[in-house]
Amino acid sequence: MLDEKVEPFYDEVIRRNAGEVEFHQAVREVLESLGPVLAKHPEFADAKIIERVCEPERQIIFRVPWQDDAGEVQINRGFRVEFNSALGPYKGGLRFHPSVYLGIVKFLGFEQIFKNALTGMPIGGGKGGSDFDPKGRSDDEVMRFCQSFMTELYRHIGEYTDVPAGDIGVGQREIGYLFGQYKRITNRYESGVLTGKGTAWGGALVRTEATGYGTVFFANEMLKVRGESLDDKTCLVSGSGNVALHAIEKAQQLGGRVVACSDSDAVLHDPDGIDLDLLRQVKEVERGRVRDYVERRSSARLLPGGTIWELAADVALPCATQNELTGKDAASLIVNGCTIVAEGANMPCTPEAVRAFTEAGVAFGPGKAANAGGVATSALEMQQNASRDSWTFSYTEERLATIMADIHQTVYATAEEYGQPGNYAAGANIAGFLRVAGAMVALGL
Ligand code: GLU
Repeated sequence: MLDEKVEPFYDEVIRRNAGEVEFHQAVREVLESLGPVLAKHPEFADAKIIERVCEPERQIIFRVPWQDDAGEVQINRGFRVEFNSALGPYKGGLRFHPSVYLGIVKFLGFEQIFKNALTGMPIGGGKGGSDFDPKGRSDDEVMRFCQSFMTELYRHIGEYTDVPAGDIGVGQREIGYLFGQYKRITNRYESGVLTGKGTAWGGALVRTEATGYGTVFFANEMLKVRGESLDDKTCLVSGSGNVALHAIEKAQQLGGRVVACSDSDAVLHDPDGIDLDLLRQVKEVERGRVRDYVERRSSARLLPGGTIWELAADVALPCATQNELTGKDAASLIVNGCTIVAEGANMPCTPEAVRAFTEAGVAFGPGKAANAGGVATSALEMQQNASRDSWTFSYTEERLATIMADIHQTVYATAEEYGQPGNYAAGANIAGFLRVAGAMVALGL
């Protein structure tokens, strides 16, 4: 429920950002936690911090013209929303997916402000992307698109201004083409302008793995406070992209039994436990679909028409996309004994699902805490770029594990302090907001 002090700000957000339903949802979710904060901190109300934090500092929308392999001209739309720079340069990924429009970019940018604050690193919040669909496009087409995208974006970004990275549809290949174009246009080898780079040219070890690994580290911390561990726990991981693959890998390393994953056409159920080498071969080497895995492994089957969340498990890690886990899915996870949910994707659980988990006493780790390992490792990449250094895999992974344990501790302690013990969603929103709001007040209007 929205506190009566906060309600007018939410109405204003809806009025100003008509039709941007994902953005409304993300704002509402944060504002629902902030009533007790305003009661305790009148200085934030006086400085109109909530109204200011809901309005991006800058929104850039641009045309991206490019030529496909048939020689035909294609036009896409590019976005970069520079949301909040109180704690550092704008930081957040680029998403290339046909669903991308301003409302999705704003929801992601808004989440990013608080997520980045929770990491404790000096990074502000932003997000960008395009409605370009990389599916089925050749390497050359992807390169030409990225070059055109950067031909406009370069003037808005920089190591001290705004530092994009990857998200859905943008991995190391795309970051390479984007970085190459930035370097060509500016004549600067400015490594810290983008993160998620290849390790041979300024990228950090563990960045590729970090979001998935971090989500599992976070889930493990949630289990620890209950006196449990991942050992022998049955896990469901939705998706089969970068976040999902690395969540599966880390969950298996910590003794978990991952029995299912998915893609946009199917759910793969493998009660013997997913064979990660085979899944990698199918997804990363062949860029195939999960049904190709099932064809090659006798213990696996495709779930006929169902969702992954109808399977029984102790731990659910939604790692695909926003609003993929509904109230109905939550109800079936609860009936089947699930006790821990940690979001590897951004806002994958609908508000109804989150409500159901909270009422049933299922521990729910929101994405802005649970998946913060990706952007935290981006900040470690920026740190290595600034000092022209590169760290080992094990040192970087240790830093990531410590950051995730610290985020968990901050979120858990903040929820207790504000009278909502065990409510990770409230703890994350309040702790992230306090950090950003404090900096905004300190920096003046
Ligand atoms: N796209 C990732 C996220 O949602 C990472 C962004 C980054 O590394 O800047 O947090």
